[in-house]
Amino acid sequence: MASVTGSVIQRQRITIQGIVQGVGFRPFVYGQALRNGLVGFVLNNSLGVTVEIEGTSAALDSFQHALREEAPPLARIDSIVTEEVQPCHDTAFIIAHSQAGNERQALISPDTATCVDCLHELFDSADRRYGYPFINCTNCGPRFTIVQDVPYDRNKTTMRDFPLCPLCQAEYEDPLNRRFHAQPNACPTCGPQVQLLDWAGNSFPNPIATAAQQLAAGKILAIKGLGGYHLACDALNGEAVQRLRQRKHREAKPFALMVPDLATARQLCSVSDDEATLLQTYRRPIVLLQQLHNCPVAPGVAPAYNTLGIMLPYTPLHHLLLHAYAGATEPGSLVVLVMTSGNLSDEPIAYQDDDARARLGSIADGILTSNRAIHMRCDDSVTRINAGGTQFLRRSRGYAPEPIALSLAFPLPLLACGGHLKNTFCLGKGRQAFVSHHIGDLENFETLTSFKEGITHFQNLFDIYPEAVAYDLHPEYLATKYALATDIPRKIGVQHHHAHIASVLAEHGLTGPVIGVAADGTGYGTDGAIWGCEIMTADLLGFERQAHLRYVPLPGSEQAVRQPWRMAAAYLAQAYGDAFQAPAIPFTQQLERSKWHILAQMIERNLNCPPTSSLGRLFDAVAALLGLPAGVSQAGTLYEGQAAIELEIQASQVAHMETGIYPFIIEGQAPAVLDVTPLIRAIVSDIQQKVAVPEIAYRFHLTVAALLAKACDITREQTGLNIVALSGGVFQNRLLLEQLIFRLEAMAFQVYVNQRVPPNDGGLSLGQIAIAAARLRAGNIL
Ligand SMILES: [Zn+2]
Ligand SMILES: [Zn+2]
Repeated sequence: MASVTGSVIQRQRITIQGIVQGVGFRPFVYGQALRNGLVGFVLNNSLGVTVEIEGTSAALDSFQHALREEAPPLARIDSIVTEEVQPCHDTAFIIAHSQAGNERQALISPDTATCVDCLHELFDSADRRYGYPFINCTNCGPRFTIVQDVPYDRNKTTMRDFPLCPLCQAEYEDPLNRRFHAQPNACPTCGPQVQLLDWAGNSFPNPIATAAQQLAAGKILAIKGLGGYHLACDALNGEAVQRLRQRKHREAKPFALMVPDLATARQLCSVSDDEATLLQTYRRPIVLLQQLHNCPVAPGVAPAYNTLGIMLPYTPLHHLLLHAYAGATEPGSLVVLVMTSGNLSDEPIAYQDDDARARLGSIADGILTSNRAIHMRCDDSVTRINAGGTQFLRRSRGYAPEPIALSLAFPLPLLACGGHLKNTFCLGKGRQAFVSHHIGDLENFETLTSFKEGITHFQNLFDIYPEAVAYDLHPEYLATKYALATDIPRKIGVQHHHAHIASVLAEHGLTGPVIGVAADGTGYGTDGAIWGCEIMTADLLGFERQAHLRYVPLPGSEQAVRQPWRMAAAYLAQAYGDAFQAPAIPFTQQLERSKWHILAQMIERNLNCPPTSSLGRLFDAVAALLGLPAGVSQAGTLYEGQAAIELEIQASQVAHMETGIYPFIIEGQAPAVLDVTPLIRAIVSDIQQKVAVPEIAYRFHLTVAALLAKACDITREQTGLNIVALSGGVFQNRLLLEQLIFRLEAMAFQVYVNQRVPPNDGGLSLGQIAIAAARLRAGNIL
């Protein structure tokens, strides 16, 4: 060991893995090395970042401390490995050229909201990027949506069409600059530009200011964002909102809103501290918030809902547009824009310019676009805070493709194909599970194409070529057909609700066994029935069904999902022997006799009436019995779960009132049958007694929570298990989840819920991949 001025000189090689490329990590390392008087180098390679530093042990310690405590905001360090190596007596610290490698383990970061420093420059009239809608730096800007290939380098992104000007190039090459190796770096001289066009192709001067004036005047615009186009209009203008709703065709889902800041959000909705934090994170999801009673937003934004989906601006263009919009309206008036996905209902969001023109031309009055291409479609993420913490309804922009680290390594590279609705897929290697962005409902050619292309892109980006594929047991799911048709050698079928429960285990690093409660709409059971209220004991290898909702016919199969009145009739038939014997309530009086007849015959002859234990369908049935609009709609609901949401909204109006629960029966064993026939009779009786609808709806929620908790208790008695994992789409019901967690915790259960992937089918792929990995590890597949 060499000795300089009395202290021993040492050299360390440090390998850092995680999200450490494209996030300003090397400049950070460079700055820390200079500060501590160290020599050596830093470079990017296929593993992440490698650093060699040489100096006194005190300086090395100080550097190591900074590495752990002061890393740049977007970096996510998964591991730091340090080895002692021989000193080389370098004379300086340098940023060395990247090493290409065979194995790619460096991670691509998600797209990130404009940082504070860039925002400051954006509105600083002295800055050369003043008012420039594509300002970014290593701490912010587009990533996943512009990356075409790896390694993450400008010429492998859609920014390659924009050669850097000398000023930008100098920033790009300066290790102490915030834009050192910021791949999307751009300025008004060299970067992309926005354009405001009408459908005749005419472009307007001052595109952003003009767009703001058009929006303020009630027009609808298609606006290009990070992962696709939004459709925007003034959310306070009822006429504009209605026009947008009509032009989107049969669109019933609430429109997301964008407001300039937290203060504005608080004028529309109540916002807790946790919700404020979620709104303001650099990931910028849509957050579902409770509307204030005097909320000024047009009713057409979220018809019949008591919540609003709100997000804050996340691109420089959004900031500039909202700023200009404030200038185009009366001083002091609220700035609230609808920013809903740019599509017709059910189609994937438009992200390519030609496609946007073709598909959005009939909806928007004009288009605010740019010449920076989007490579990957990526919808906004949708979140909320509930009793279980942060819940994802959709995990996409701002989160994907950040991997979820599992507690055990994948024995082979793996693919999981997910479900049918709200599809995501997942690729796994090492300990990392890469859950994809939101693909959508695999019901049409476009979504299926997007699914296939997404898998290919992820395989390439993360260098994962699967040797086994996991799929849902439903033979008709397109994702399942895809899995079975691939030439991947090992194919692993996973039961739908087992996958839901496994998604919770995977997130929390658990392997089980646990008591799993899957509360769901539709999932294919191992007996061919449609399952959806399953209490199981489960680990990652397998599950045993401990209890389920009593089977009831699903009249018309898929048709019953969109026509809740069919479920009400099926439950009445179960409760009263023959639906025609059901007591007179408005529901039975208003239903057409001919429809009753057909349905009764279908049930009697067991024609197209698969048995179901779906909890979602029970919610549908009760919504219909209570006469809620989506429940009794003859045309059918616009999406699965619409009637259940109406029921929850009714119940929420009287939440926390003192009320008992309805009766139910639990009988039999392994599996026990949860019989809600007494509940149906009691509800019918309450309707006849003219008990208020919100009260019945609330008591129903409490009953379901009590029923599930009781089933867990019985399972605990029989198995000794004390950990409960809750998942499935029905747990998007905030009231039910809150009531169930409350009861389970009061019974001293340890309760886990999804916090990183959705409890709905968007989380299935993670559960599938965790199960497939466990089975491969156990050797019962190979
Ligand atoms: Zn920035
Ligand atoms: Zn430039």
